[in-house]
Amino acid sequence: VPKVGVLALQGAYREHAARLRGLGAPVREVRLPGDLDGLAGLVLPGGESTTMVRLMNEYALWAPLRDFHARGGALWGTCAGAILLAAEVTGASPAAPAQPSLGLLDVTVQRNAFGRQLESFTTPLEVAGLDVPFPAVFIRAPVITRAAPDVEVLARHGDHAVLARQGRVLASSFHPELTPDARLHELFLGMLG
Ligand code: GLN
Repeated sequence: VPKVGVLALQGAYREHAARLRGLGAPVREVRLPGDLDGLAGLVLPGGESTTMVRLMNEYALWAPLRDFHARGGALWGTCAGAILLAAEVTGASPAAPAQPSLGLLDVTVQRNAFGRQLESFTTPLEVAGLDVPFPAVFIRAPVITRAAPDVEVLARHGDHAVLARQGRVLASSFHPELTPDARLHELFLGMLG
């Protein structure tokens, strides 16, 4: 079974690691560039993307993460992690400052897209390829407002894409590690080359 990393700078990385281990995958927490050696895939968890950006600067992770992708590694970003993967990030308001991102998924992501009224909620989500809806937990979640033609949109909530895949890169607006449903973790393990 290929080894999977979980970016362990901040956020819900322990929950992802526990779920992946439960599915039989060997897991390593990734904090430094060298931690990526020998991994087939990497999960970027939910949390606070601005904090993760700061720590990625501090640990000089930007180029190593892009190299990891270029060498054939699979990546899955959930919530804040999806924001980190996007080609373009916009704020909830046009006045919000621009935020750097890895640019490994050709989408535009809008942060905190559901506003204060709906900061967090759970909803059954129809997902392409799954026969029963997935219980999706959204917490101050982003949405995908633009997707390049070769990005496969696997689920939508209202007007916006919330689960998308482009080659070896998967992104979800919601938190699959916070529900007992393991189907999206299984999907990701199936993407490891
Ligand atoms: N709102 C957070 C951000 O912009 C993401 C929230 C989450 O990961 N649950 O980074």
